[in-house]
Amino acid sequence: MNPLIEEINSKYRRIKAISHAQALLRWDLETYMPPKGASARGVASAELSVMEQETYLSIAPLVDRAQELKDLNDVERGIVRVVGRELKYYTAIPPEVVKELSQITSEASVVWRQARRESQFHKFKSYLEKIVELERTIAEKLGYKEHPYDALLDRYEEGLTVKEVDSLYQELLPSSKEIMEKVVAEGRFPSSHELEEVRYDVEEMRGVNVFLTELLGMPKDRFRMDVSTHPFTTGIAVDDVRITTRYEGKDFRATMFSTIHESGHAIYELQLDPKLEYTPVGNAASYAIHESQSRFWENVIGRSAQFLQLIYPELKSRLSFLSRYSLEDLYRYFNMVRPSPIRVDADEVTYNFHTAVRYELEKKLISGDMSVSDVPSAWDDLMEKFLGIRPKNDSEGCLQDGHWSGGSFGYFPSYTLGNVIAAQLKYTFNLEEKVRMGDFNSIKEFLREKVHRWGSIYPPKELLRRATGREYDPSSLIKYLREKYL
Ligand code: MG
Repeated sequence: MNPLIEEINSKYRRIKAISHAQALLRWDLETYMPPKGASARGVASAELSVMEQETYLSIAPLVDRAQELKDLNDVERGIVRVVGRELKYYTAIPPEVVKELSQITSEASVVWRQARRESQFHKFKSYLEKIVELERTIAEKLGYKEHPYDALLDRYEEGLTVKEVDSLYQELLPSSKEIMEKVVAEGRFPSSHELEEVRYDVEEMRGVNVFLTELLGMPKDRFRMDVSTHPFTTGIAVDDVRITTRYEGKDFRATMFSTIHESGHAIYELQLDPKLEYTPVGNAASYAIHESQSRFWENVIGRSAQFLQLIYPELKSRLSFLSRYSLEDLYRYFNMVRPSPIRVDADEVTYNFHTAVRYELEKKLISGDMSVSDVPSAWDDLMEKFLGIRPKNDSEGCLQDGHWSGGSFGYFPSYTLGNVIAAQLKYTFNLEEKVRMGDFNSIKEFLREKVHRWGSIYPPKELLRRATGREYDPSSLIKYLREKYL
């Protein structure tokens, strides 16, 4: 390896140690920390972020020199690119902006929670105005070619632009609407099911979730599963990957599919190339690629007829209330289609309309074509246009997600890209047969080779071209939805 790159890698180990600690602190905060620990955890975490930024800035001169190097191999080029992106952010954004954003977002999440509970948008409005203003400043400082929102999209999905997302939705939404209307009219996939109200025993359900992680071959000595309100995955190290799931006491598919979803994220983290572990390219390629892995396991595999057939006997023997339900019944319950106001409850057919609503609004807020006071009515109008329903209040409308209170502008399209990429991957090999056989090892091997092992050596679009021969291609998702639902 080039000696200069070697030096960057050796300094990077400190950054890796800080993010290792941060990941563990966050995992603990969401799982076992006593509630009063929150404020000390906030202080510790903020100090670690400052240390991380300082460490990055200390390697800036090395990275400047490395950017001049010729004849680097793919890994070395990846390292320079990834560290360069981080440094671009840390050098372009003045520390007072970073600090102001961090302060306003920690206050705003508390205010947002209350505003959502009471469905009072006006309580959150001034915070959202401030956050939008800061995000607009960040977009200007980072710079962009065509649209200020491009600068924010790029933070989550390297190189993604408004132009690309616009054309993706233009292709995806009309077909999705057509599919949705047909499915609803035909009624083969129901819009409600009595199992939604059936209560389960948490201990029995825990057994089902453990069974599922074992079926997917999650390694016991490198993986664990705990409980939190909002399920998540954290890759603390390549040999220490953790997921959480949730138990709400009824509608058992929610906990089951959370577990499969997070296992999909975890498999990605577990299959990164250990040789890259302490280097800047030892992380996942992007948010959308990460999400594609969770949705591939949750939806493409988990909600398929083949997978259900495989797990049906075990589900029946573990959950006594299933005795009255046939395989076909469960399949319909797992794949209900219902235009509904809440994104996190949305099915595969209607999901992408929810991200489109947020994308359209964010784009206009960041370009200054819309003011924050217009958000609630603009939200409701788009929901009506896309799904034919109007939220009955702001809690089930524009106040439902926490992303804006946390300053995550530019994130929502990654969910839809994740769906798109999952469908692209499905059509690159003979998946159904492997699921029918329960041959998850060869599915994982395929994903390791195509996606996981490369970390972030390549930018997401290039990784995708290498894996599927195309960049983001909504036609695969449309094909998948048509085949499954029509
Ligand atoms: Mg996810």
